[in-house]
Order: sequence, then C-alpha cells, then structure tokens
Amino acid sequence: MSRAVRYRGRFAPSPTGPLHFGSLIAALASYVDARAHDGEWYLRIDDIDEPRVRMDAEVDIRSTLERYGFAWDGEIVRQSERMARYAAALATLRQMEAIYECACTRRDLEAAPLGSGGERVYPGTCRNGIPADRALRSNYAWRVRVDETAVRFRDRLQGLQQQHLSRDIGDFIVKRADGMFAYQLAVVVDDADCGITHVVRGADLLASTPRQIFLQRKLGFPEPAYLHVPVALNAVGEKLSKQTRAAPLPDNPLATLLAAWRFLDQPLPAQLPTSVEQFWRSAQDGWSPASLPPVPMLPAPVAYERPGPVRLDSA
Ligand code: GLU
Repeated sequence: MSRAVRYRGRFAPSPTGPLHFGSLIAALASYVDARAHDGEWYLRIDDIDEPRVRMDAEVDIRSTLERYGFAWDGEIVRQSERMARYAAALATLRQMEAIYECACTRRDLEAAPLGSGGERVYPGTCRNGIPADRALRSNYAWRVRVDETAVRFRDRLQGLQQQHLSRDIGDFIVKRADGMFAYQLAVVVDDADCGITHVVRGADLLASTPRQIFLQRKLGFPEPAYLHVPVALNAVGEKLSKQTRAAPLPDNPLATLLAAWRFLDQPLPAQLPTSVEQFWRSAQDGWSPASLPPVPMLPAPVAYERPGPVRLDSA
C-alpha cells in the first residue's frame, strides 16, 4: 500500500456514533487539502476501542460521507484488522528496551501531578521494575520510556509546537492493561503503513502529536506534516462530540458544507455553489490554508450543536 506519493492524507473517525459538525470540519479540511494538492485521501475507521464502537456506526459514517460528496481512495482501513501490525511495533519497541510493564491503576495515579497541558504525569513507579506491593496484580500495561529532550514540530497552522514529554506526560501507555493497543501507537503504525504524508485533523489532538512524533522517531517512521484545524465548541464551551450530544449531520449537505467552509474562514466564490458537486469544485480551487483561523477552538454555528431541528438561516 505504501507506494511513494507526494501527498497522501486521511480522515480517521472513531465509529462511536454518527458524524457531527465537528467531525465534518476534520473531514472537510483533510479532504480539500488533499485534493487541492492533487493528493490522495484515505478513510480509516479507528475502531480499536472496542467497547465504545457501535456496530452500525461505520455504515452510517460511510453513507454520510458519500451523501456529502466525499470520495476516498483505495480500500477503507480498519484498525480492528491491523492488530498484528501493532503487535509487531510493540515487539520492536520491546527489543529496543524502549518499553516496560506497568502495574499502576488509574487509581494509583490519581495523586500524580498534572503537566502543563492538564494531563497526569506518570511518576515512573514501574520504570525500574514493578514494585513488590504491585507484583501480584494480573493485568499490566506497557509504557514507553520518554527522555528529557523536547519534541518540536511546526504545525502548518498553529505554528511551532514544543513539548517536554518527561515533564508534561511522563512515560506513556502503548498497550493498555485490558490488552488493547493504545491510540498513540496504533495511529503511528497506521499512518506509516499507509504512507500518510499529511495529517489534517482537529486541534484537540495537538497535545498527542509530540507523543506520536516520539514514537515515529523510535520506530524509524517518516514524520508527516501536521495541520490542526480549530475544533468546534458548543455554547457551553465543550468540544462537539458524541459525549456532549452533538447533533448528527443533517440531511442538507450543501448548506452544512457551506457552514463548515465559513467556520474555517475560507473564501466564498462570488457565485455561491448550488450543488454539492459545485461546492467541491470551488472548494478545491478556493482552499486557502493561510486564511484558516490560527486558533485551537471556535464556537460552532448554533444549529449544529445539539440534536433538534436544524435552522438553515445561517447557510
Ligand atoms: N480517531 C480519532 C478521533 O476520532 C482521530 C485520529 C487522528 O486523526 O489521528 O478523534
């Protein structure tokens, strides 16, 4: 699958429910950035977190994307079918002695200090071996050892980013105690195997990117270019998500695509498109990364926040 291409992007929804306005922002930005670069765009279903996966969600996501005029290249990639690849990456890390088993529970870590990004910093309890009082626990996670060097990268929109993993995150989990591979490991293996050159996604994942770059470097994978677009917030300042009961995308693709386009401060053509096909043609020509709002979050148009009748006066 990984023939060298100049641009290969992707959209990677988790199939935990229907797509909402927040997902549309990531889908739209990644798709149009790929097409404007004459690149490819893959659809990956991030269904690794089994308990949260809803059986019908993938079908729903696919049909919504089709209705909205998205066309992906190649076969759909599913994380649930790629366990052997994650296991191989874990084995490589193990051979390098880059990872270790950890018996700490979430409870044990409740008192750990918070890093500057608000995440608990792993205090290194099991770094030099599991302490005797925890040795009898049965389910161990695997953590990767981080080092003191800062991870730096330049986001195409958010600018220079830097994180000291040892200060702000600590050694982080690559395989969970319940046996599941962690998102951070899976995404790095997937992006590398698929030959992804450009990652365009919501800025809620900005804080994860240094962990992913750290793993890419350890595993000798190429580093994609990153562009983190603002995430859409509801009226009380929460990220639109299934948990915050964001409204599923409505059945009027053109109006909703235009609302997403405006959310991203993109230039509108003099003649507003009258069909989804026209929208995509003008979007590809008009795409202007330089006009994107260089912020990590922005309020969503009110119509798309919560389930209920969608008002169309903003489109
Ligand atoms: N599956 C992740 C999500 O829905 C996105 C992963 C990624 O883009 O790296 O938040």
